Amino acid sequence: MSIAEKNLLLDVKDLKVHFPIAAKSAWPWSKPTPLKAVDGVNIRLYEGETLGVVGESGCGKSTLARAVIGLVEATDGEVVWLGQDLTKLDEVKKRSKRKEIQMIFQDPLASLNPRMNIGDIIAEPLRTFYPELSKDEVKSRVQKMMTKVGLLPNVINRYPHEFSGGQCQRIGIARALILEPKLIICDEPVSALDVSIQAQVVNLLKELQTEMGLSLIFIAHDLSVVKHISDRVLVMYLGNAVELAEGNALFDEPRHPYTKALMSAVPIPDPDIERNKEIQLLEGDLPSPMNPPSGCVFRTRCPLASEECAKRKPELRGDDHHAVSCHKA
Ligand code: SF4
Repeated sequence: MSIAEKNLLLDVKDLKVHFPIAAKSAWPWSKPTPLKAVDGVNIRLYEGETLGVVGESGCGKSTLARAVIGLVEATDGEVVWLGQDLTKLDEVKKRSKRKEIQMIFQDPLASLNPRMNIGDIIAEPLRTFYPELSKDEVKSRVQKMMTKVGLLPNVINRYPHEFSGGQCQRIGIARALILEPKLIICDEPVSALDVSIQAQVVNLLKELQTEMGLSLIFIAHDLSVVKHISDRVLVMYLGNAVELAEGNALFDEPRHPYTKALMSAVPIPDPDIERNKEIQLLEGDLPSPMNPPSGCVFRTRCPLASEECAKRKPELRGDDHHAVSCHKA
């Protein structure tokens, strides 16, 4: 099914997340400098779709995800979920919407309460949102969900430290899915796992997505994993979206100079092509989000930068299939 035929679930409009940081030598009356973690990002997510989000550490991908789910407050912009702007809702309404959007975290063990057994960990959201459910009903739903994610129901009374990293991530997935949400935000869910376990977890997410009709926002460093799981991919740089495209188009024909550099580093399974391919190295470091370059935020590292790039910030132009933010793309 093409994007045009799918229902729009999430419409993020010009989202900004700025954190006020006090300068060390500031005078008492000096204003804090904003750290622009996310600086005007637009994304649309459709029913049943997986949107990959990639970029260097510090590019704002995790902050973007946290702002969508409401874990950090948006400074400006809208997060429209099924027609309602979540940033404008009061706490009670926001909370009720939260059961439709759940999150899976990077460090599976650290994200689970070590003092609770896994039955209680998975059941916690159920007890919060459906306090009227009987003990037996909760237990039965938890055991069904455990089976779904590949855990044996008879380990329900064990504690997180008794499980491997991959199993802990399955527990995290079960906890996220127990409320039957429409969207799961996966914040680097496989980066802390061994490669063989990564594949199992990614395949599990794909199976559950098909079975439960889920949409996913999948944040990762590993571009091969993102390519495998995503329908479309958003590339971020210094709090800005620089390119958005369907998976194959982005990997085969990247248009933004930053995306081209990223894609040139993806290993190719053919040893001859891999040996002879040209890797485009990026010069310099990521600038500080407290003092981003004027105009295009990528211009200090861009081999194509011109005077115009310092004066005018490029907009993300295009459509849901392919959009790019560069004066020369
Ligand atoms: S707008 Fe200019 S600096 Fe920015 S990516 Fe394009 S060419 Fe490079």
